[in-house]
Amino acid sequence: MTASETREPWYAWCFSCGQMHRFVSGDETVNGAWCGGAWVRIGTGAERDCLAAKQVRFGMARFLNELPLDVQAEIDKEWEARHG
Ligand SMILES: [Zn+2]
Repeated sequence: MTASETREPWYAWCFSCGQMHRFVSGDETVNGAWCGGAWVRIGTGAERDCLAAKQVRFGMARFLNELPLDVQAEIDKEWEARHG
């Protein structure tokens, strides 16, 4: 299966909202993403696969304060990169 270059859906776990967000290509920018929270891009494909990938990477943590401090710092950095 070849993914279209444009408007391909992808998933990000949001540690501000405590849930998975579904974005489409182009949403990476501040103006494009509909959530300004602390989300981390997980990947494309089926939502359940992305949920599994999230749990491998972040465990059962739903919110930022449930993560180790170094991981929180990484996510903060990603947030700052998006918001300049
Ligand atoms: Zn969110």
